[in-house]
Amino acid sequence: MMDWISVTEQVEPLEGVLLDSALVSDMQQRYEALSGNRVGKVNFYTPTFKAYATSEIAGCGKSAWPAVSITGGDCKLQCDHCKAKILEPMLPARTPEDLWKLVNEQIAGGAQGMLITGGSNYRNEVEYNAFYPTIRRIKDQFPAFKIAMHTALVDMDIARRMEDSGIDAAMMDVIGAQDTISQVYHLRRTVDDFEKTLEYLVSTSLKVVPHIVIGLHYGELLGEWNALEMIKRHVPQAVVLVVVMPFYAPEHRPFVTPDSGEVGRFFMDARAALPDIPLLLGCARPPGRVKAEIDSYAVMAGLNGLAHPSDGMVELAARLQRDVRVTPACCSIAIGDEVMAIETEDAGLQIDIEQIIAQERARKSPVGALGGIRIVTDSQPTGGCCG
Ligand code: SF4
Repeated sequence: MMDWISVTEQVEPLEGVLLDSALVSDMQQRYEALSGNRVGKVNFYTPTFKAYATSEIAGCGKSAWPAVSITGGDCKLQCDHCKAKILEPMLPARTPEDLWKLVNEQIAGGAQGMLITGGSNYRNEVEYNAFYPTIRRIKDQFPAFKIAMHTALVDMDIARRMEDSGIDAAMMDVIGAQDTISQVYHLRRTVDDFEKTLEYLVSTSLKVVPHIVIGLHYGELLGEWNALEMIKRHVPQAVVLVVVMPFYAPEHRPFVTPDSGEVGRFFMDARAALPDIPLLLGCARPPGRVKAEIDSYAVMAGLNGLAHPSDGMVELAARLQRDVRVTPACCSIAIGDEVMAIETEDAGLQIDIEQIIAQERARKSPVGALGGIRIVTDSQPTGGCCG
């Protein structure tokens, strides 16, 4: 096969995107030596294939996957990268009764599932105790309604309660550096507590989808490789990688934008470490040119899912001879990642391959750019919220 740098030069939207050629050639060598169930497949989740406009995202089935916080905007931890700001736009349900009412309203409005989360106590636990019977009731009454739960740290007893409540996916951030836990999270817990949480969750029948937040240590990579080792010891159903977006960092501890090359190297290490489970790149990553660089490395490393890919990524994957799928999922996938990772891969994907080809041709006119490039389509496309 042609060297990958030459391949990227054929992808017009990548013009001006600065890729590290030594890294790209190293990735090519490493990728070509890989084997595993998940190597070679990639699914793009995007409202439409064309570079989507903000207006399209805003109007796109926002209620399909509401995020619900059982503490409203309250969080004791006030981590440096978040300061509880992530909770602010969520729907509050501070009591089990509120949750029941809210879910019924959301389902009536067309919601397919929800993320349930909340602020932490000082021990990085979300206090769900009073809510489990209601969650069970929701799953009994609306079995098709998917529930992804942000677990935070748990012991075995809590993991079992989560399992019994019937949730569809359990997610947690795996942090592999003590300094990050102490400094960014202001937390008196250990790396081992994070590993134990993963171990307990994986030992249940729950579908577990941990996240690694790349650059969580003020924009530097520190515990990410250790987090990978922890995940290798307790293999979950899928892993979501996100790149830190530190909008709320305090002035005295600013975050730098993570180096895209280092992120790319980590993608490759993650792929090599976990060749048999789906690896997804979640929505969160810094915008602009660095996003195009990060996405290019994600495609090259062989991540299996990219939410909201930069322009040119589908073409790049096709030119790298990957099995390409495209799911016109709506904007709400930001919080549906966990369920998506484990449920859509072999399900009826929503693909309009004709549209993809037409748009590529329009952009590359007069030559049909995708002629001869293999793209896998699903035989039974289904309608999606973005139509
Ligand atoms: S515990 Fe979660 S919600 Fe609270 S500040 Fe930290 S990241 Fe944000």
